[in-house]
Amino acid sequence: MAAHDESSFWKRVESWLPKLFADEEFDAVRIEPEVIEDICALSRGSHPKEMVAFLTGDIREEQGKRTLVIDGLYVKGYDASEDATSFTTHDLPMTGVRGTVHSHPGWSNRPSAADRRLFDRHGWFHLIVCQPYTRSSVAAYNKQGERIEVAVGEP
Ligand SMILES: [Zn+2]
Repeated sequence: MAAHDESSFWKRVESWLPKLFADEEFDAVRIEPEVIEDICALSRGSHPKEMVAFLTGDIREEQGKRTLVIDGLYVKGYDASEDATSFTTHDLPMTGVRGTVHSHPGWSNRPSAADRRLFDRHGWFHLIVCQPYTRSSVAAYNKQGERIEVAVGEP
């Protein structure tokens, strides 16, 4: 996105990230529907600002595939503007974090250059959601910034 400087955005996000992501292989990704609903609701609530959260989950054996199952979110507050005040911050120990999600307050869910650098450094799995913040405006990317298919729903 071009609306503001995502480098500073990610700098701040990275300050929250311990060594989160071990490199583990998986063949498929499945996201629980509630997680997508929460992402869309958070994004709508943050608009016209960005929101960012961390995706939690585990690798499970599902239908003979090693599947990364995303079943939760850690929400950290973020606001690009200086008058930022009210964001919910749950300072939980971030265990089980497998990736990131952030919103683009615009109509493109493609990763920016800053997004790609972050993806490359922080492993596995990333979501970007753009307006109108519905399930179909959520896109998933791998470490290389390539779009990947994910299943939403029950195994
Ligand atoms: Zn972005």
